[in-house]
Amino acid sequence: MKQFDVAVVGMGALGSAAAYHLARRGVSVVAFEQFELGHVRGASHDTSRIIRTSYGAPQYVRLAQSSYRDWAELEATTGEQLTVITGGLVFIPIGGPFSARDFVDSLNEVGIPHELLSPAQVHERWPQFSLPDGVETIYTPDSGITHAARSVAALQMHARMNGAVIRDRTPVLSLDPDSDGVVVRSDKGDIHAGKVILATDAWTNALLEPLGASIPLITMQEQVTYFKPQDAGAYDRERFPVWIWEDTHCFYGFPTYGEPTIKAARDRSDNLMTPEERTFVPSPELLQQLEEFMNATIPGSGEPLRTVTCQYAITPDRNFVLGPLPEHPDILVGLGAGHAFKFTPTIGRILAELAVDGETSDDISTFSVQAAVHPTGGVDSRPVIVEQSLS
Ligand SMILES: Cc1cc2nc3c(=O)[nH]c(=O)nc-3n(C[C@H](O)[C@H](O)[C@H](O)COP(=O)(O)OP(=O)(O)OC[C@H]3O[C@@H](n4cnc5c(N)ncnc54)[C@H](O)[C@@H]3O)c2cc1C
Repeated sequence: MKQFDVAVVGMGALGSAAAYHLARRGVSVVAFEQFELGHVRGASHDTSRIIRTSYGAPQYVRLAQSSYRDWAELEATTGEQLTVITGGLVFIPIGGPFSARDFVDSLNEVGIPHELLSPAQVHERWPQFSLPDGVETIYTPDSGITHAARSVAALQMHARMNGAVIRDRTPVLSLDPDSDGVVVRSDKGDIHAGKVILATDAWTNALLEPLGASIPLITMQEQVTYFKPQDAGAYDRERFPVWIWEDTHCFYGFPTYGEPTIKAARDRSDNLMTPEERTFVPSPELLQQLEEFMNATIPGSGEPLRTVTCQYAITPDRNFVLGPLPEHPDILVGLGAGHAFKFTPTIGRILAELAVDGETSDDISTFSVQAAVHPTGGVDSRPVIVEQSLS
């Protein structure tokens, strides 16, 4: 049986980043992807993803700070510009489930430049927004955008260039831990690896349950919509930042990015579906809700042009899961809980360090598998609204 130091299962953003870092360290690595590389059935396709340090928890602010360094390293290595800085706004209605104070305290604790703005101050600088009274806004100049599909492709290409063996269209069927690693069984034969990194997002429990383990995960179909503003120039990234509305229902959006449209979406659609149940058909109810929000908050956003579906697999408290399975320590899990793209090169580096060195210098203390199985409260305390698929 072919022997590798590390096997990576799943070549979305997180698995591709882990394979990239492992190969760059000269480790023998094989990576499996059940579909074609760059497919659109998971969580890592399409164009833009927000990068930011503006979180309401210092641990995430510090991890995001590491990510900016790791993105810079990745761009220097690949020679590709994968990120652009646009500035970013986080809108937090007073009295809602989120508090601007948490964001200000976290950013202060880590020393991230930011401003706390009133609706009038926001409107003066960004007249494209119309905010009601009672909304506090956090502005961070370091927020921006990374290109999802291009970043994943760059990681995969450079992983291969550094010796990684990538087997796409090769689903891993099961994992059999033994005394010195794990037998990885795929539909194209078995290999043995000293360590396995599971970066399989919504599909993770399908491989964990036969091992007597599982992680609480809520999977849902997300959707993002591209709007066609009358005056697209007003939404150019020199004049319009990335933005997030943090409330019972959260929304987020982007300036124009490679086309004269602006993308926006509701975060956490609660349109519950397993990967097998995915319809890939956008929900008209979610689109209507988003249009109403956009008309009220960004009156010039224009008509919806197209809607793309995607997938979330979130832990109940929206914390990441990064670490070994207690029952099988040679199997490492990497789960991004629907907000990990900005951390991609860092989570990949951390998973590689855990596989090779057994430790990492980044603080991942609250991201253990045990903490996921027994959640004590994370970055998103909103209750998950359990509703059948909206449509
Ligand atoms: C609409 C949307 C908007 C988002 N916006 C942002 C944002 O602005 N900022 C941000 O930071 N994050 C954002 N995210 C979250 C971010 O994109 C995800 O956290 C990240 O892409 C997760 O990557 P992943 O590699 O874990 O998952 P995936 O990309 O889903 O990869 C998992 C891979 O594992 C493969 N796999 C599963 N089982 C097997 C098996 N048995 N054998 C072989 N392969 C297998 C799957 O086919 C898949 O390719 C967004 C996500 C969505 C859906």
